[in-house]
Amino acid sequence: MKIYFKELLLRTQQRRELIDITLDVEKVVRESSISNGLCLIFVPHATAAIVLNEHERGLLNDIMRKISEMYPDNGGWDHNRIDDNAAAHLASTFIGPATFMPVKEGKLIRGTWQNIFLVELDGPRPTRKVVVEVIGE
Ligand code: ZN
Repeated sequence: MKIYFKELLLRTQQRRELIDITLDVEKVVRESSISNGLCLIFVPHATAAIVLNEHERGLLNDIMRKISEMYPDNGGWDHNRIDDNAAAHLASTFIGPATFMPVKEGKLIRGTWQNIFLVELDGPRPTRKVVVEVIGE
């Protein structure tokens, strides 16, 4: 079994945004030379998340709107007493920091309308890391 590890470094530009990292992840899978296995996509931050879905402008707006509705900034959150970003932590907690995707014959298996996004929830940040680890043979 082989393990191939790579960190993507991304700059975010808005408070909340979705950044399509599909091409970057597919490049890591190619570099890994692993034919069959799993690809972990993990964000090592408490105020960001990873999601899979269609890259269509209207849908991206809808996703961000739903996140804002579910985790409003002014929710009376306790964490805002020490750090004004409880909504970002909550969204990260419940959306989740990682996903696994299957790798088969050297390619990620994903649906036609299933791109990979970093979800920035407390930006802008000069550097956000995304760990991509391919495990297999
Ligand atoms: Zn905080």
